[in-house]
Amino acid sequence: MRIANLKGRAQIVADGQVFDLEGASGGQFGPDLQAVYGAWGEVRSWAASAQLDGGLPLETTRLDNPVPSPRQVIAVGLNYREHAEETGLAAPKDLPPIFTKFVSSLTGPEGVVELPPNGHTDWEIELGVVIGKPAHQIHQHDAWLHVAGLTAVQDLSERILQHIGPAPQFSLGKSYPNFTPVGPMVVSIDEFDDPDDLGLSCAINDETVQNSRTSDLIFPVPALISRLSAVLTLYPGDLILTGTPAGVGMGRKPQRWLQPGDVLTSRIENIGALTQRFTAATS
Ligand code: ZN
Repeated sequence: MRIANLKGRAQIVADGQVFDLEGASGGQFGPDLQAVYGAWGEVRSWAASAQLDGGLPLETTRLDNPVPSPRQVIAVGLNYREHAEETGLAAPKDLPPIFTKFVSSLTGPEGVVELPPNGHTDWEIELGVVIGKPAHQIHQHDAWLHVAGLTAVQDLSERILQHIGPAPQFSLGKSYPNFTPVGPMVVSIDEFDDPDDLGLSCAINDETVQNSRTSDLIFPVPALISRLSAVLTLYPGDLILTGTPAGVGMGRKPQRWLQPGDVLTSRIENIGALTQRFTAATS
């Protein structure tokens, strides 16, 4: 099953079309996206045998963020070995760095992002995990049972603020408006041959800058859910960013940052693409 957001209403994506969930289900389910993740089992059973008609073509439909208001956004740092190396930091052994991206930074799969003034704005394609069942103290063998689906996320990061002293400011430096594009849809786990091995890539103006697979994660999704839920309770609709592979601008020689006019395209296999265009700061 594939869930998308059209003008704030939950949609089922099937056969190249989007179908309004409330309409298609005759009112069994409402339009609220986050409520879909709280009723994931019920929506999936209904969708398995639903007769869908009256859809809109996906190709020409501009989708919004399919995870618009999670209770928690949890982000993971240094979760690919080569990315840890390019940042000059040690790869984590027991627990990767954990921070948040504030929900005010969330946005849809396509749009315009204003670059912060005097900043160094960098790109990070990441696999996003959407929780489908409350999770607290979950063993990694049971972890996938608590996941609704997977999505693509771009973890835009302003590196000057991120690394300002005396302690790093990961959460703030990564939370400017529109710094967390999500989408274009949330895809349920059964739609993947192997949800632990997905290609993910990112390109600036058609030049590929990141290209890797989630099988290279130091802490794969089940290990992350186990470690996070040892402390936190994860709620349906929460979003986890699993970390970015090598190829970010900070790790290049010379370093490279997003410029006004750049178009960033971020892709994950079997999920889709995010497209962001960058503009200069207006103040
Ligand atoms: Zn990141």
